[in-house]
Amino acid sequence: MPEGHTIHRIARDHRTLLAGRALRVSSPQGRFTDAVRVDGATLVDLEAYGKHLFHHWSTGEIGHIHLGLFGKFRVHRTAEPPEPRGAVRMRVTADDDGEPVTIDLAGPTACSVGPPHDRDVIVARLGPDPLRADADPDLAVHNMARSRRAMGALLLDQSVLSGVGNVYRAEALFVHGIHPRRPGTACSEHELRMLWTTLRDMLRAGVRSNRIVTVTRDELDLPRGARIPRREATYVYKRDRCLRCATPIAAIEVANRTCYHCPTCQPT
Ligand SMILES: [Zn+2]
Repeated sequence: MPEGHTIHRIARDHRTLLAGRALRVSSPQGRFTDAVRVDGATLVDLEAYGKHLFHHWSTGEIGHIHLGLFGKFRVHRTAEPPEPRGAVRMRVTADDDGEPVTIDLAGPTACSVGPPHDRDVIVARLGPDPLRADADPDLAVHNMARSRRAMGALLLDQSVLSGVGNVYRAEALFVHGIHPRRPGTACSEHELRMLWTTLRDMLRAGVRSNRIVTVTRDELDLPRGARIPRREATYVYKRDRCLRCATPIAAIEVANRTCYHCPTCQPT
């Protein structure tokens, strides 16, 4: 499942391509019946909140998209977009004299249009998103500090804080030496604040590079300027051995997802 950095990057890229433009909106597959409500409207802005993407339309309504496990956007920058391939839930095409662009969305968990209230209901369920300027770190720290649940579960709970997925949770817990099963109540406020800052920095780097790289370059034995290979881009996630101490990485189930950690660097 894409983590928050992917959604924020999509919002940023699509804003450049689409914001302020009148769009034709359709559903080649037919399941996005709300398409007619905004067909021909201007897309005023896009907004990312955790793993949710919102389209603010000139009609006053708001589109809601959640990619889920399989959702994917595909951008076509040609005057004649190709025939929709597969089950395209939503197609938007710029309907003005500017640069031609068509964007297809396939396989999302959610794709709908509704009044602003619908967006507010979704956002009210979400914890602070470290990538948003309006995020309140105190709230996330408080959410974690008062809970007896495992930190590995708290980081995936979108009502505690939003945008973190399976890779970033494992990596941030490793950086702070926190075992994934340690309860929130057993972490100090200082640890939780540092954890927030680490997650924010990791997510920001993810938006910039459009991929997940949590290790720092000087921890790897790579030629200068070389691209960091995927298997080298994390400390513990899907690694055989810990990057720092070479202990074999342990994989345990936390909140129904496999959580990787180093038994030496993250003792119970
Ligand atoms: Zn280690």
